Amino acid sequence: PVPVLTIDGPSGAGKGTAARAVAARLGWNFLDSGAIYRALAVAAMDRGVACEDEAALAALAHSLDLVFEAAAVPRTILWGADIGDRIVTEECGNLASKVAAFPRVRQALLEKQRSFRRPPGLVADGRDMGTVVFPDALYKVFLTASAEVRALRRYKQLKEKGIDVSLADLTEEIEARDRRDRERPIAPLKAADGAVIIDSSDLSIEEVIQACLAVARS
Ligand code: C5P
Repeated sequence: PVPVLTIDGPSGAGKGTAARAVAARLGWNFLDSGAIYRALAVAAMDRGVACEDEAALAALAHSLDLVFEAAAVPRTILWGADIGDRIVTEECGNLASKVAAFPRVRQALLEKQRSFRRPPGLVADGRDMGTVVFPDALYKVFLTASAEVRALRRYKQLKEKGIDVSLADLTEEIEARDRRDRERPIAPLKAADGAVIIDSSDLSIEEVIQACLAVARS
């Protein structure tokens, strides 16, 4: 079977940056599963689908024409349009976590996520990569960091993208989103059995990358 390294954890733990870099260094494919839920949230907004309408959201999820273009600056293309700028906001992340709580939505996106498992390997970033989507993955990491550090990282990330938010509001939003992700009945955010737990609070990005690479080479 094609080897998979799953990297799950709460928002702002550094998963995105680390997972992308680890995939590049291993020469493996990369799945940003959060971007799929974010794209679905964008699609729902554009098509006027209410974020409470599970059946309509699941249908939308099935019909999602989403392409990730690997490049120096990776692009996310939904129905032919670049939605990169729209999926990075905390509003979109928040909406994504609402639509992600519906079992039929998650079911509808399973196959799409699993299709990223192609030779020579896959690094999969998300909340349920090791628990639900790739339970048979050979390598599993649960990446976390303190709430303060995670909020500050997201704050800096958004600032770099020219998005202005207050740190206090952002901290509150991230805590609410993580609570929703942890407490939902379906695919709750938690460490998979056997996952190596890495706390990135006091680690540099390079140290996180090295720790993940060590797991993939174990
Ligand atoms: O990782 P990211 O912040 O882009 O994810 C946005 C939201 O999508 C998460 O808060 C979570 O609710 C949802 N998600 C999920 N399962 C995944 C990845 C993301 O439920 N595997």
